[in-house]
Amino acid sequence: MRTPGTAVIIGAGIGGLAMANLLAKTGWRVSVYEKLGAAGGRMGEFTAKGFTFDTGPSWYLMPEVFAHYFSLMGEDVNNYVTLDRLNPAYKVFFDYHAPITVTGDLIKDRRTFSALEPGAGDNLARYVQTAEHNYHASMEHFLYNPFTRLHTLANKRVLAQLPVLSGQLLTPLHKHVARYVHSQPLQQILEYPMVFLGASPYNAPALYHLMSFLDFKQGVYYPRGGMYRVVEALQNIGQKHGVKYHFNAPVTKIIVQNGHTTGIEVDGQTVTADLVVSGADLKFTETKLLSPAAQTYSESYWQKRVAGPSALLMYLGVKGNLPQLNHHNLFFVKEWQQNFADIFETKKWPKNASMYVCKPSATDPQVAPKNHENVFVLVPLPASLSEPEKIGTLADRYLQQLEEMAGIPDLRVRIVYKSYRTPRDFAELFNSWNGTALGMAHLLKQSAFWRPGARSKKVKNLLYVGGGVQPGIGVPMCLISAEVAYKHLTDDHSAGPLAALEPPKGDWHV
Ligand SMILES: Cc1cc2nc3c(=O)[nH]c(=O)nc-3n(C[C@H](O)[C@H](O)[C@H](O)COP(=O)(O)OP(=O)(O)OC[C@H]3O[C@@H](n4cnc5c(N)ncnc54)[C@H](O)[C@@H]3O)c2cc1C
Repeated sequence: MRTPGTAVIIGAGIGGLAMANLLAKTGWRVSVYEKLGAAGGRMGEFTAKGFTFDTGPSWYLMPEVFAHYFSLMGEDVNNYVTLDRLNPAYKVFFDYHAPITVTGDLIKDRRTFSALEPGAGDNLARYVQTAEHNYHASMEHFLYNPFTRLHTLANKRVLAQLPVLSGQLLTPLHKHVARYVHSQPLQQILEYPMVFLGASPYNAPALYHLMSFLDFKQGVYYPRGGMYRVVEALQNIGQKHGVKYHFNAPVTKIIVQNGHTTGIEVDGQTVTADLVVSGADLKFTETKLLSPAAQTYSESYWQKRVAGPSALLMYLGVKGNLPQLNHHNLFFVKEWQQNFADIFETKKWPKNASMYVCKPSATDPQVAPKNHENVFVLVPLPASLSEPEKIGTLADRYLQQLEEMAGIPDLRVRIVYKSYRTPRDFAELFNSWNGTALGMAHLLKQSAFWRPGARSKKVKNLLYVGGGVQPGIGVPMCLISAEVAYKHLTDDHSAGPLAALEPPKGDWHV
């Protein structure tokens, strides 16, 4: 195709919004169809009783990915979000050990590690150094790579790293961490980021220790007013470039004829398009929107794959202050390995759960009424739609555990607002695979070029974006996924971030 035509995007999550913008800026006429009443998908926002809750993400990580994406759009991210670097980065509570604070300042955190275990400070520094190296190497060679040309991997620089790289791919993270620190609290601090990737430290590759570069060195940021400001920014930029948004518009079919899509069905109507991009859950897109003949990943593919965890989310408005909690708080229990086995293997709701608690009102007075705190609790659960217990009973048990571990005995009686999100809600709201909160887990066989790519192998002008495809889970990854999908359209096989958003020299590859 010589000139840009019409494009339809399914879903206004981060992946869908980001792709809509790239296409609109390069001349496509873009319409986004979203099942729900607002944009953002898992990165939503709601207000109740004077509290403003982000519904999903709360860690603004990899700020340079946001800055790069906005600059491709000809924008400065700082005109849309005001970032505060959190100091301390987070506090960790244990049910068997005194709390530990991670400042995000490596000099201070080395001291903390050394005080807990002789030599652990120096080992932390070495660990973060290789994490930083892996992070930059991944940005340069893997994360933005559409994996359409072998030479982007079989080049001197990547090959030189192969011996170390293959060791890190084949070693589970837990084993790798144990080479650096021996005490359980410190191991847990280096292992927890695997949950961000929907994986367990017992089966995620050690390569992902790059995540520790983010919290120990690059910094943990918060956009003032909440994470949803990013969604608003993406939508505002889309509007500037003429993107049309249709909400409460669930797509029911991707129409395919002779190996090409001609558009979608929504509300019983046909919408024609030259290009269809789905940002909806990949399993849903493949198995529910396409006929079997048009599926790249059929039902049997999914049966052999591992979904990342789901979660019980609690949105709490709490009266009075909670000085015991920082902005980000992690609660780790001694039965750490059992927790992961419950979630990934036996699919049981953990009795004693490790969990995450965010108190954005620590940083941002806008998100709670005066003399109140905004508290978000995330308890990882298996991706499964069976609910063996009543949610209210389960939530109460986890809140009691939280009271005990944080030393806030009256937390539950001070709650003035509460609502929940469960695995079933994830399935109903977002059509998510088995109610997973995050998408396909980042196991080795589900990462990089082993993860589904941006282009359908059966339908020529059908692309995929979002956390279900390469490079994977997380808001920055979803921004990158749009750039990778764009490269497929422009016959760009480069491994790193685009220097500029250019239309193709010749035809659009649809
Ligand atoms: C609780 C939680 C905490 C998280 N924390 C972080 C964090 O701190 N930092 C971070 O970077 N990442 C975090 N993540 C991950 C991050 O939120 C996701 O990776 C990202 O938002 C996924 O975006 P997406 O575009 O792939 O999908 P989605 O957000 O799922 O968007 C897909 C959209 O498609 C729509 N849709 C589905 N079916 C249809 C249909 N038939 N027709 C039309 N529309 C449809 C859905 O309604 C949805 O709006 C978190 C996720 C969760 C759930």
